[in-house]
Amino acid sequence: MNVLMRVGAAETSRALAPAIEVLGSRLAGQLVLPGDEDYEIARALPHLNWDHKPIFIALVRDAADVADVVDFARRNGLEIAVRSGGHSVCGHSSADRGIVIDLRELKGLDIDTEARTVWAGSGLTAGEVSRALDEHQMVVGFGDTASVGIGGLTLGGGMGYMSRRLGLTIDALLAAEIVTASGDILFVDETHEPDLFWAIRGGGGNFGIVTRFMYRLHPLPDFVGGPLVLPATAEILAGFVNAAKAAPDELTAILMVMPAPPMPFLPEAIHGQTVLFAMMAYAGSPETAAHALAPFRSLAMPLADLVRPGPLFEHVYARTARHASRSFSALHLHGQHDARTGPRDPCSSGPLPRPNAHGSDPCARRRGVRPGQHRDRLCSSS
Ligand SMILES: Cc1cc2nc3c(=O)[nH]c(=O)nc-3n(C[C@H](O)[C@H](O)[C@H](O)COP(=O)(O)OP(=O)(O)OC[C@H]3O[C@@H](n4cnc5c(N)ncnc54)[C@H](O)[C@@H]3O)c2cc1C
Repeated sequence: MNVLMRVGAAETSRALAPAIEVLGSRLAGQLVLPGDEDYEIARALPHLNWDHKPIFIALVRDAADVADVVDFARRNGLEIAVRSGGHSVCGHSSADRGIVIDLRELKGLDIDTEARTVWAGSGLTAGEVSRALDEHQMVVGFGDTASVGIGGLTLGGGMGYMSRRLGLTIDALLAAEIVTASGDILFVDETHEPDLFWAIRGGGGNFGIVTRFMYRLHPLPDFVGGPLVLPATAEILAGFVNAAKAAPDELTAILMVMPAPPMPFLPEAIHGQTVLFAMMAYAGSPETAAHALAPFRSLAMPLADLVRPGPLFEHVYARTARHASRSFSALHLHGQHDARTGPRDPCSSGPLPRPNAHGSDPCARRRGVRPGQHRDRLCSSS
């Protein structure tokens, strides 16, 4: 361990002050240090179980900034954490007494509808890219939560509303711009650095820092989706699973067994009671959707049925943003559910950590964020 790592973040940044100043003057982006007005907000993670205090947070603007910070960390023997959406439940996108390379300013989006491709900055969230693609009736299949970063999601494989129709997010990944540990900026695809391209398709964040992703776009002229809330009984749950197995590939259903959130479309009497909260996503016309959805609707009188034709962003992402905090602690049927022990902590074999003093709302601290500091509008406005 480097001797600087044994002391606090503030002491370390003071000890490195001259070198940090030189680094800051080279960057297009900005360094946020302990004691700076923005430090507490910049270091906060959506999952409040983590309280890492980095030496500084580098709000980078481009790949050259990333390469400079990587070089600085290597020369000073410092640990690096990379942050896109910040949703790592294990707190991997920050580092106690290390450096955070914060990609949230990398919001570039270049949509080519002719070629059916998009270059997306790795600071974008699934919701931000999907909202922009809605305008063109195009889609990339991301996960079920708008505020999750495309960075961590794509590097982990990515599964969500379009998975049964289009496969994983990495099935749409065509190329990437990546900064390696040696500070090189590489373009990778099937023919350029093919091994590295293979590794980042599901291998996680350990192969370099991706600054831009290029995805293949799929046309989505028709979409039907939204929440379907059903009573939570064993029979209805079993019926739902059977209906999902028999459903056409156009339909992806993500089901959570969770306490009913206090949402205006749910009767007050059931708030807090266990319900089956399903997000339905059908990639096709309203006529064929009705047929595919009928087996789910016939399981019971729905407590709420907001499954409607319309754009994907508005019908699924905007709505999940509103209950994301509660769904986090719910039992994801496609997640790590063990019937005997309940939800698992994916970082260990133990149960999920208890919510801290801020409750389980990952957006709680962010609501105080000033415009421009954190641009996840879904979270701050929910
Ligand atoms: C509420 C919630 C819902 C979720 N739903 C789904 C889902 O439906 N489908 C699904 O597949 N997954 C889902 N996930 C898991 C999610 O995809 C992963 O947690 C993902 O890693 C989060 O990405 P992020 O960019 O937001 O997180 P971060 O915390 O920013 O990053 C996660 C990890 O990836 C690394 N990393 C991030 N960006 C880069 C980059 N550009 N270059 C190199 N390394 C990088 C980080 O260092 C960190 O180790 C969900 C997670 C949460 C919390």
